[in-house]
Amino acid sequence: ATSTALVADAQLVVSGMSRQRGWVSVSVQTYQSHRTSAQRILQQEYTVDETGATLNALSRTSDAPEEEPEQQASTTPTTSIFIRDWKLSGRRAYIRYDNDNSSFWFNPVVNDDPRHNSVSGSDFPCSRGDIFLKLGMRGARLIPWQLKEGDVFRLGQAYVLVSKVRLTSDTTMDVSAFSPPPREQTAVLASTGTDAARDSAGSAESDDDEPPTPGSQRSSGAGEPSTPPPAHECYICYEAGEAGNPLISPCMCQGSVKFVHLNCLQRWIQPEGSSAVNTHCSICKGRYPEKAQAMMIRPPALLLESWSNHRALRLRHWVSFANHSTASLGRFTEHNDVVIPDHSVSGEHALIIHSGDQFWLHDRESSNGTFIRLSAPLKLAFGETLQMKMGKSLLSLQAKRSRWSRLRMRLNILRLGSAGPGGDDG
Ligand SMILES: [Zn+2]
Ligand SMILES: [Zn+2]
Repeated sequence: ATSTALVADAQLVVSGMSRQRGWVSVSVQTYQSHRTSAQRILQQEYTVDETGATLNALSRTSDAPEEEPEQQASTTPTTSIFIRDWKLSGRRAYIRYDNDNSSFWFNPVVNDDPRHNSVSGSDFPCSRGDIFLKLGMRGARLIPWQLKEGDVFRLGQAYVLVSKVRLTSDTTMDVSAFSPPPREQTAVLASTGTDAARDSAGSAESDDDEPPTPGSQRSSGAGEPSTPPPAHECYICYEAGEAGNPLISPCMCQGSVKFVHLNCLQRWIQPEGSSAVNTHCSICKGRYPEKAQAMMIRPPALLLESWSNHRALRLRHWVSFANHSTASLGRFTEHNDVVIPDHSVSGEHALIIHSGDQFWLHDRESSNGTFIRLSAPLKLAFGETLQMKMGKSLLSLQAKRSRWSRLRMRLNILRLGSAGPGGDDG
């Protein structure tokens, strides 16, 4: 009986309150090192209610934020958040409240025009106005991020693009370009694994291990010189090619090291217990061609491209999770599957963990942080603090429940408690 009275009392109080569900507190810190030799930090605080907010970059040519003309008519009474920047202007993001799921959302404005998107020419995947979310800082717990193709993340000042995500081996059958050409293939025809090759070679040669008999040689190669063609063999295991494991010639190596089994090469380029794939031939030092790489790398795999040393150094990294579910990224050469040489990258900076056809990026409490570029709306969970970076500015956002919202939640719990089977209203 007492709890029912309490609920009634509380209900009366709650009904008299403003029905604001919550707000987002936003703090913007901008580094202004260009004006004086001493670095100055400009900090501004905003409170965003359910009417939402726009985040606007303010080019430094205009000095005072109050001089900025309020362009939108007052029909949309949203908060305007200003972020000072050297070269950027215009709306970069907005915050809105979604009544359907009772949550605040952070929506980045994604610039699709590649001409405006490129910073340093070439194909650097980021633009200056991109907003990056810091990982590992969500409230008290550490958050990972599910990576998808096209994602860009930052380790300190180094940028990493998820250039390709390969879940299945779609190119394993495309070995013809690297297999021994047909005319010198008499001894290893079965190795190509194609039906046509097996049909023509099957009768003449049943076993690759046996040298061709004079009879079969005569029947298959009429008019050929008497010297039998050399039998190709794998330079790693000395065996001939076979269906499903063909001999290929993926690089510039010639002679006794020209051919290698696809499977032998796959084991060779990816050492046991590692997810890193070596895409250079250890003999001729040449890089395996793109097509050969796609064939050699066992899925699930990621192709990462990194820009480090002030974007002067661009590297490609194939990472295969076929035998190893984790890839470590960092500056130390010895401990990492993906080595990114940059002073701002920690020795052991981040991890990518493969699980159930998903790839998760984890920060390893690095000194300069791991950041993911935001390209889709992000839900701002109540109580969690998110940190973001845009240019030289640092944004801190926290969605908070109003007192009304919190009381209403407690009221619901009380109501459930008094009506439930465990209630003491006998
Ligand atoms: Zn072999
Ligand atoms: Zn080679």
